[in-house]
Amino acid sequence: RFTTRASAQPLTNADELIDSVQTFIFDCDGVIWKGDKLIDGVPETLDLLRSKGKRLVFVTNNSTKSRKQYGKKFETLGLNVNEEEIFASSFAAAAYLKSINFPKDKKVYVIGEEGILKELELAGYQYLGGPEDGGKKIDLKPGFLMEHDENVGAVVVGFDRNFNYYKIQYGTLCIRENPGCLFIATNRDAVTHLTDAQEWAGSFLSSLVALCVLITLFSTAWWLSMVGAIRGSTQREPLVVGKPSTFMMDYLANEFGILKSQICMVGDRLDTDILFGQNGGCKTLLVLSGVTTLSVLQSPNNSIQPDFYTNKISDFLSLKAT
Ligand code: PLP
Ligand code: CA
Repeated sequence: RFTTRASAQPLTNADELIDSVQTFIFDCDGVIWKGDKLIDGVPETLDLLRSKGKRLVFVTNNSTKSRKQYGKKFETLGLNVNEEEIFASSFAAAAYLKSINFPKDKKVYVIGEEGILKELELAGYQYLGGPEDGGKKIDLKPGFLMEHDENVGAVVVGFDRNFNYYKIQYGTLCIRENPGCLFIATNRDAVTHLTDAQEWAGSFLSSLVALCVLITLFSTAWWLSMVGAIRGSTQREPLVVGKPSTFMMDYLANEFGILKSQICMVGDRLDTDILFGQNGGCKTLLVLSGVTTLSVLQSPNNSIQPDFYTNKISDFLSLKAT
């Protein structure tokens, strides 16, 4: 079923948008910061919104840090943000397991970094895997069989700069040998901005790209895309807990008791942030301070239209009704 949305409008009256909602959800990379660099005018903009009594929530698909570690990052950047206002996809993975009463006597196999491990630990889950797992080349002697822990009931895959073949095989065994084993992905971003200098392979591959990779075995950079590899080798679809999935939106709306129609989702990415807002029935604002350019937004190939777009969130300080 196709629904046609009106084309995104340039934001001309920020006050009207601010007055029309009670909560702003901000995506982080491309909106608040770029890599480790604060985007211009962010502190003043957040101060303005807080002075108007708005609730501010921060949602990031980057699973490498925990909520607490993001709290430190905000602090280092001079932003006054509470840990409870931060929803990273690492936290979402642990919160999802809790929400389904994932048994505490089962284990979670993690392909990912410290953020996921810390959140699982806080939630009281036993895990194995993580960044240090299986660094050595596997010695495939005749008859070699890789053992796996049969008590693993979930495999969580996020961004992992130490991704390796051992992890693919271990995660695949857990999922393939146990039909009840969950396959959870923190996010599906195809590329990320680890640094603001270039695009880096993200944690997900589209099925088409995954197929090309499997057939050609060429691009080492693409192999770094972790969820796609496990998806390819298990033939199972992951359950995504990060944006654009509705899990975090439902979770935080419930946590804070807020109506989704009273939320404006602000992001720099159409297929994660803007879709996340639209899936939740929120107002949406695209900022051009991150990955999406105006020509991509306005391309005939793009079907995701936010309600509004503007250059950066500090436009809130200057775009008044005339
Ligand atoms: N995942 C990783 C590893 C990243 O580096 C980034 C951005 O830098 C993202 C995901 C996307 O983060 P966000 O949702 O804050 O834009
Ligand atoms: Ca972003």
